[in-house]
Amino acid sequence: MNALETITKEIRACTACDLHETRSQAVPGSGTSDAQIVFIGEAPGAQEDKRGLPFVGQAGKLLDQLLEGIGLDRDRVAILNVIKCRPPDNRPPRKSEIAACRHFLERQLDAIQPQLIVTLGRFSLVQFCPDVSITQVHGQVQRVDGRLIYPVYHPAAAFHRSVWRQALEKDFGRISEILASLQK
Ligand code: URA
Repeated sequence: MNALETITKEIRACTACDLHETRSQAVPGSGTSDAQIVFIGEAPGAQEDKRGLPFVGQAGKLLDQLLEGIGLDRDRVAILNVIKCRPPDNRPPRKSEIAACRHFLERQLDAIQPQLIVTLGRFSLVQFCPDVSITQVHGQVQRVDGRLIYPVYHPAAAFHRSVWRQALEKDFGRISEILASLQK
């Protein structure tokens, strides 16, 4: 078992916060340790909780379309969340839940060592860049502790505002260019 598989196993068995009492199952994430790019969302929703996979509901369909639009598919990237278990009624994760779960994400990133981390939405962004506003920095690579963070809006937010949808498509459109510039 490699490091990522070990973490996956630990996440599935985790009882460190109260969310384990209400989840159907934990959602460790998808992708393998050779992924060059990692997408990080907030927390599993109802569909994810049911299937044990990240971004398989409505927001996931849009994420798939956005990936397809730039010639990527799920098999070539990793998709993770900050929180691995669904908060009841999709309420925002609590500080204590974020704190209890945080080491899993850190260890997943250490195991994958991606060239680029795409944060989906404000919640994911502030885990890496606590003092910035997504409206100001989306689409601009941020360097944080040796990592490259590329903030974009959350696909679920794009359902509500067409300007966010346009921004999301535009920001996704730059991902290949950013990855290519990193290979040089
Ligand atoms: N939204 C997220 O942030 N993560 C998921 O896995 C699904 C929806």
